[in-house]
Amino acid sequence: MKAHEQLPLLPIACAEGVWLEDFEGKKYLDGVSSWWVNLFGHNEPRIKAAISLQLNQLEHVMLAGFTHEPVVQLSEKLGQLTGLGHCFYASDGASATEIALKMSFHYWRNSGLSNKTKFLSLQNSYHGETIGALSVTDVAIFKDTYAPLLQQSMQMPSPDARLAEAGESAEAYALRCAEFVEKYLAHHHADIAAFIIEPLIQCAGGMGMYSPVYLKRVREICTKYQVHLIADEIAVGFGRTGTMFACEQAEIKPDFICLSKGITGGYLPLSVTLTTDEVYQAFYDDSVVRGFLHSHSYTGNALACSAALATLAIFEQDQTLIKNQNTQAYINAQLASWGNMPIKHLRHQGMIWAFDVTTTSSKFQHNFYQQALLQGLLLRPIGNTVYFMPPYIIGESEVDFMLSTTQSLVMACA
Ligand SMILES: *Cc1c(COP(=O)(O)O)cnc(C)c1O
Repeated sequence: MKAHEQLPLLPIACAEGVWLEDFEGKKYLDGVSSWWVNLFGHNEPRIKAAISLQLNQLEHVMLAGFTHEPVVQLSEKLGQLTGLGHCFYASDGASATEIALKMSFHYWRNSGLSNKTKFLSLQNSYHGETIGALSVTDVAIFKDTYAPLLQQSMQMPSPDARLAEAGESAEAYALRCAEFVEKYLAHHHADIAAFIIEPLIQCAGGMGMYSPVYLKRVREICTKYQVHLIADEIAVGFGRTGTMFACEQAEIKPDFICLSKGITGGYLPLSVTLTTDEVYQAFYDDSVVRGFLHSHSYTGNALACSAALATLAIFEQDQTLIKNQNTQAYINAQLASWGNMPIKHLRHQGMIWAFDVTTTSSKFQHNFYQQALLQGLLLRPIGNTVYFMPPYIIGESEVDFMLSTTQSLVMACA
């Protein structure tokens, strides 16, 4: 709070495409898609139209005992896209994580394996900040203060390719990390309900990218030891890694997928946890306590579901995943011409780019953020890691502005 004495809040008046605009008419390129939610730019006409159409029909009805058209359509659509046929809705990512954790635990309990009460996650993982989600998150600055409140969970070595030894390939390192999971589960599987992971990219932990062979191997190991695999695609879902969902790149089917952030194109809060028929069946019973007694007031909100349907329709209409390949090629070509810079681990996966700045300045993050805003660019480095996660509609001249501004600011702030 006190930092805002030096860095006042920026009041935004309106926005269009990749540009935010303040009350003085100054524009800022939204290089992080407003915390990774805004997939198709601000003021997107098709999402707006879908919400207003829905607004004239039905804004909301509780989902307990009721249903409505947008939630049915969205569930069908997400079921087709993920291969997981059952949806449970909430309004934010952390709640989707909570739902997956509770449902996994309860599944094992209903299946007579009530010792399965613990969870595994990765070192440097991020799954949200409510108490359950924070228990499987491994980012010290968010977690340490609340440690006495949290459930114990166990962290497996991160397959982040930056941690590979000299001469070791990303794949070899990822497989080495997966073998650690195998050894751990061989001893402890009887107590473990689920392993929750961010597929392909550990975003909040500093855009750590890893090989899909890890997911493939961990899927086999989890199946072997009767441990659920929860794919937290809250950040990477909806095309961020190049495929609609990151798990597709490893050709695996997790037991649960958590989705949020980009799901409504950044228009309204919505999240969903998807799971298999097998999990669904374990709760299907005459006994009420075998059911999943978890609810949120705004579960499956009709306006949010209509925004999500419009977002999914844009992927089809605009052939977004194919179009994004051109944007990626353009950005990669520009980055390839960067030459000598004080950076390492320049990396890229789908519509995310990141690099680590080599600097002795302890104020790099702060200075870069502030200087970039002065120049009309919104980027939020994570420590010394600068990343781009722009809206998919970013154009070439906007890319040029984002990259040239970043290049000069890295030189100035490092
Ligand atoms: C942002 C995020 C969450 C939490 O979502 P919120 O809506 O902020 O609660 C969970 N997992 C991942 C991977 C995220 O990036």
